[in-house]
Amino acid sequence: MLWSIPVGRFGATEVKIHITFLLLLAWIAFSAWGQGGAAAALDSTLFIVLIFACVVLHEFGHILAARRYGIHTPTVTLLPIGGVASMERLPTNPRQELVVALAGPAVNLVIGLVLVLALGTLRPAELTQIDNPNLSLLGRLAAANIFLAAFNLIPAFPMDGGRVLHALLAMRLGGPLATEIAARIGQAFALGLGFLGLFGNPLLIFIAIFVYIAAAGEAQMSASQQALKGLTVGEAMETRFTPIGIDATLSEAVDALLATAQHEFPVVDAFKKPVGLLTREDILSAVKSHGGEEPASAFMRSGVESVRPAQGVETVFERLQDPKSAALYVTDADNAIVGLLTRQALAEVILIRSVRPDWRFGRRA
Ligand SMILES: [Zn+2]
Repeated sequence: MLWSIPVGRFGATEVKIHITFLLLLAWIAFSAWGQGGAAAALDSTLFIVLIFACVVLHEFGHILAARRYGIHTPTVTLLPIGGVASMERLPTNPRQELVVALAGPAVNLVIGLVLVLALGTLRPAELTQIDNPNLSLLGRLAAANIFLAAFNLIPAFPMDGGRVLHALLAMRLGGPLATEIAARIGQAFALGLGFLGLFGNPLLIFIAIFVYIAAAGEAQMSASQQALKGLTVGEAMETRFTPIGIDATLSEAVDALLATAQHEFPVVDAFKKPVGLLTREDILSAVKSHGGEEPASAFMRSGVESVRPAQGVETVFERLQDPKSAALYVTDADNAIVGLLTRQALAEVILIRSVRPDWRFGRRA
């Protein structure tokens, strides 16, 4: 994320702070100073820093649980609205999804309970009084952690509770139906929250809009997956495409870009085996600072995955959702390229299936 400052690294995960978070701190210190002088400014700032430290620990709850299942998280970024962990992928197994989702709120619950036990004097009623200035700093921190655990368990995307609900439903109903039901419940919760917000808490309205949009996104995703059900890669792939030879020049790649409507060009060897992928963006950025006689293969990206024509599209759909993967190669038994599976091709298949769910595509492999 732009404007993020790295502050440290834990295991394989880099912790970053977004500049807006520092602005939030400055604003809180400034407004507390205005009301209660230097002591109040220090107290308020320290409190917010401690809360966000707990938010980072919450994210590491998710990160460490995900790591147990082989999912890595390169960065976690602290924003004024909370922490964002950039996991490589979400667990697809419902049991793993449940464990990863619960691990975050569990961290806050543990911190809250440890603080309550350590302080010993906290009354249960005080745990709802985060903004009570008569409460000690640690007392308020305990209250904040219990609030964080409860808030994150609201059963609506993108809250952890939404994931918990989805995992529990998926164990009984299977993925697509679980996503649809969880998304509906999330939207209902969002409407309820927004309604409550009308009675005096504008922050709730803001959160409600956020939750509603996220739930709608999940529902959309589920509808797409539903539309692709039963289709093979061979039916959805692009078959008319121009490959670029491994010994082609940048100039020839530019010619191919102009001659076709294609945005992704597989680079192939003499046996039609794909060795890399050149996207429109790759070609444009190469042209900026290189001559036309340079080899086009110097600018290709590697690590693009191959799939087989007979594979179900559903099983490879997830891999194309990553914005960094522009396309997948479709290869035959000799590893020669026979097609290209792009996001654009999938979007068209989804479009046709959404107006004619029973439409059969020609088997092309
Ligand atoms: Zn969480």
